[in-house]
Amino acid sequence: MTGTPLPNTLCPLCNSANQCVPAAENSFAGPCWCQNVTVSPQAIAAVPASQVGQACLCPRCAVGLRSSKGIQALAGSADTV
Ligand SMILES: [Zn+2]
Repeated sequence: MTGTPLPNTLCPLCNSANQCVPAAENSFAGPCWCQNVTVSPQAIAAVPASQVGQACLCPRCAVGLRSSKGIQALAGSADTV
């Protein structure tokens, strides 16, 4: 354990709030949404090398909704809102 989390609250893929509880509260004491989801390997692969291990993904990017063209193509009808 390293003590305190990094205060990086923005998603490295889309720059929106990653909703990372440890980053927001500066403590690993509380639970985080990321413990309940399976992070997409494609999303992890899309993170810039300089950001790996530095910031959490946001929930949308973590499950591959934004970074994967393939997934977007499969769910294309959702873009017609
Ligand atoms: Zn994101």
